[in-house]
Amino acid sequence: MKRKDFIKAGTFAGLSAMFSNAFGGIFREKTEHFTDPKYRGVEGVWSPTNTHMVGNGFKVMNFFPNGKGFEERMSPFFLLDFNAETNFPPSEISRGVGVHPHRGIETITFAYKGGVEHHDSKGNHGIINPGDVQWMTAGGGVLHKEYHEQTYSKSGGAFEMLQLWINLPKKHKMTDAKYQSIAHGTKPEVKLPGNKGSIYVVAGEYKNTKGIASTFSPIHIYDIHLNEKGDCNFTLPPGFNTGILVVDGSVNVNGKEAAENHYVQLKNEGGEIQITANKKAILLVLSGEPLNEPYVSYGPFVMNTEEEIKQAIEDYNNGKFGFLK
Ligand code: MN
Repeated sequence: MKRKDFIKAGTFAGLSAMFSNAFGGIFREKTEHFTDPKYRGVEGVWSPTNTHMVGNGFKVMNFFPNGKGFEERMSPFFLLDFNAETNFPPSEISRGVGVHPHRGIETITFAYKGGVEHHDSKGNHGIINPGDVQWMTAGGGVLHKEYHEQTYSKSGGAFEMLQLWINLPKKHKMTDAKYQSIAHGTKPEVKLPGNKGSIYVVAGEYKNTKGIASTFSPIHIYDIHLNEKGDCNFTLPPGFNTGILVVDGSVNVNGKEAAENHYVQLKNEGGEIQITANKKAILLVLSGEPLNEPYVSYGPFVMNTEEEIKQAIEDYNNGKFGFLK
């Protein structure tokens, strides 16, 4: 009996050594490396969701709120609609979304391919070209419409954009509506050494480079462009809700693979975020301090109470959001 036990134990020891020789050098190092508290944990990698049309111009996957209990997981970010690369046929009439209101939030539009045009009830009009960001603070209320830019619409072809909604803190809900039109060339750029790529700081800060957008609560937003095999690493505040959308390409984030159109949710803890591009990639990094305030949402309005939602509907019906044809 003793001898048999010995053989068995020996067999397992041998197998263990064999696996360790064959794979240990590759896998073990990776696992140990990224379970090290030096690195921020990955809570999950979310697959692309089903798509739905917003108006007739935006074919989006909704990563949050998504009605699956993620409503508060990314606060103050409230909604992420991503139109992954889609080919639209040429059209003489621009596809898009007609006049609609917003109150209590900011809507931020990023264009990657094709162009988005907009008009609002404050008389603003603009075109969001690839790389540009349009940061609209709806605040107390605005009407706008968003549609394919006319030249793009007539030619058709690849279209890729996303819209992010940021919830406003209670004390800023009714701030005056405004725009920040951020052209690609004006985004502060941090060039990574060795031609690895660039980090454009849209909001907040990246290693002492300040972002261009002004925000109503503490937020960091990075537009990251990595070349193949390019990598970068940085830290973000442990308590900030943090996620990374893989717009193009594919990356490894702290040991987890994330393919195109996937979303990486990070844990709320300290530690470095280490990103390596498997192939040329464009990423959107979102990180913000949770608002921790009650909210009620109804379509394009996000307020703190039911009463405020009723008021928003009443104000909209009474023309208090202005006029836009
Ligand atoms: Mn809108």
